Amino acid sequence: MAISAVKGFRDGLGPAACLSREIEEAAAGVLESYGFSEIRLPILERTELFARAIGETTDIVEKEMYTFEDRDGSLITLRPEGTASVVRALVEHHLDQKDSILRLYYAGPMFRHERPQKGRHRQFYQIGCELFGREDALADAEVLVCVRDILDAVGIPDARILVNSLGDENCRPAYREALRAWAERRQEGLCRNCIGRLGRNPLRILDCKVESCRETTAEAPVLRDHLCDPCGEHFAKVLAFLDGLGVAYTVDPRLVRGLDYYVRTTFEVTAEGLGAQAAVGAGGRYDGLVAQLGGPRMSGIGFAFGVDRLALALEAARPGAEERAGAALAPAIFLVSLGTEAEADALALARRLRALGVRVELDGGRSLKSLMRRADKLGASRVLILGEEEVAARRGTLRDMVGKKDEKLAVDFDLQGPALLDALGVER
Ligand SMILES: [Zn+2]
Ligand SMILES: [Zn+2]
Repeated sequence: MAISAVKGFRDGLGPAACLSREIEEAAAGVLESYGFSEIRLPILERTELFARAIGETTDIVEKEMYTFEDRDGSLITLRPEGTASVVRALVEHHLDQKDSILRLYYAGPMFRHERPQKGRHRQFYQIGCELFGREDALADAEVLVCVRDILDAVGIPDARILVNSLGDENCRPAYREALRAWAERRQEGLCRNCIGRLGRNPLRILDCKVESCRETTAEAPVLRDHLCDPCGEHFAKVLAFLDGLGVAYTVDPRLVRGLDYYVRTTFEVTAEGLGAQAAVGAGGRYDGLVAQLGGPRMSGIGFAFGVDRLALALEAARPGAEERAGAALAPAIFLVSLGTEAEADALALARRLRALGVRVELDGGRSLKSLMRRADKLGASRVLILGEEEVAARRGTLRDMVGKKDEKLAVDFDLQGPALLDALGVER
């Protein structure tokens, strides 16, 4: 019996793989223009890293991690997100002693044991970044502008950036108590989950998706009204920077994140075309995390985009995106060698063209008819035929396949460099 992939894991095939790579390259290009440099992280970490960074009582750590016993009996986990690993690397390599400001980005697969559905897989791809060592509002604004620039570069400028301030350890505790007291008088409108949250983490009732909870909490006090002066000024400054640049955003008082180390600016990016999973990315400030993981007191802010989610959003915004990305797979030149005399020349010519950056598919050893059928199937725009006659004359026969015109042209295949590309009509 054939073996299939593990449930929730899938293969990225052809055009889908092309689109994912295009998205990753677009995002990485923007991040590098912002001064972020890549950090390549391990896929496995000690389980305790995520338990400490994300929190023992979160859904991710309680239910969704792929955790295994290693051969020496230690517990290891397939990373469910990237930030914890970046912070672990910062602390482990004392990166803060090399530079007081760090801009790092990462890309790659993450793993969560969730129920598979549209836009949600157990192995999914993220690209994300972290900026350490800056506490000022300018840094928050820059990060949010970067988010917008990535959305533009990927091709989903209509995606929404929802932003909120979570306050800090000065103002959030009082708000938490105010919200708890408010909600305890309205428990009949809350789901069981939320009633359970009231003790541990009342803020989470604000982002509960259950309709009755949403209705009940519509009138709940909002954190923005409880921010202390420094937090209020910080948030106002961030928004003013965005306004000044005309970068669109929506303040969403319901946007909360469950973890204690998140402070002040927090955000989420949503887009059409993802069904219930509207978020394509999220991020925020986490000034306490580096110290929590044994490092220095160093502030941080960052975000991560889901590459698969961005692909779905892009396909919804611009139908055919995947097909267009896949068009890059079509060879610019389909090079045919007919007969054994032409094989060596065809191999050498294909190599010269590839060195010039041309995508060449080399084929031979069959009838011209079946080779042409394959060129057609691959979507090759030009077929260059080398047979016995062509090798003798040092001139290949070029067929233009566009619009099935089948124009034949003799091309001196001993030409070099750009002259060869021009003769073949390949764009440089
Ligand atoms: Zn609820
Ligand atoms: Zn505050």
